[in-house]
Amino acid sequence: MALPRTRAAKAAPETFARLQARHPDAHCELDHDGAFQLLVATVLSAQTTDVLVNKVTPGLFSKWPTPKALAGANLEEVQEALSRIGMFRQKAKNITELAKKLMNEHGGAVPSTLAELIELPGVGRKTANVVLGVEFGTPEGVVVDTHVQRITQRLGWTRETTPEKIEKDLMALFPREEWDAISHVLIFHGRRICSARSPACPSCPITDICRSAFKAENVGRKPPRVRASSKTAKKKTAKKTAKKKTA
Ligand code: SF4
Repeated sequence: MALPRTRAAKAAPETFARLQARHPDAHCELDHDGAFQLLVATVLSAQTTDVLVNKVTPGLFSKWPTPKALAGANLEEVQEALSRIGMFRQKAKNITELAKKLMNEHGGAVPSTLAELIELPGVGRKTANVVLGVEFGTPEGVVVDTHVQRITQRLGWTRETTPEKIEKDLMALFPREEWDAISHVLIFHGRRICSARSPACPSCPITDICRSAFKAENVGRKPPRVRASSKTAKKKTAKKTAKKKTA
């Protein structure tokens, strides 16, 4: 369904151009050499930081640099190499199984379509689009992480709250040639300027066209947990007591 042409949507090309000019160095920060290493590094980056992944991958790739080497690796040794990152046991299993599948079904090469990539262990749509965008230059979607989610909401580029729906809005708003760059630029902007807790609006290049400028703290953030009021708590206690009596 086409997006309604809101003011924010109309201003999107200029907004993005200005953000790109502010962050010309925006790029994928996972250290890698080739599609296989990027694929593995992206699988490892789930629920952890790129910085931490970059600390474990040099050791991992020096020992098992190719799909063939990793497919024949001892699982416990791979776990040991990844032990500094979260969910390392599951991730070790995923990347060794992924390497086996690349050897058995793709001749040791990383496939270049979304449909094939998401069939690999530990690879979802987000990981697949990182590889397609960065390595092959043919993204089939936009990578939506927490920075992209928060900033696109603040800019009014989407009213959605789930990555899947936000991705669809961004795909409708921008041409395909920009899908890869969008996420890198917004991630850099989120880290450097438009942070979740204290966006630095005074130093942002788009204050005149950002509808959340100087009032963004609560836009695009998860609402704080509301504790049950004493009234609600009393009601719950009364209900429990009534149940006990009737039991
Ligand atoms: S003006 Fe403020 S809220 Fe808008 S993108 Fe810039 S830092 Fe974020």
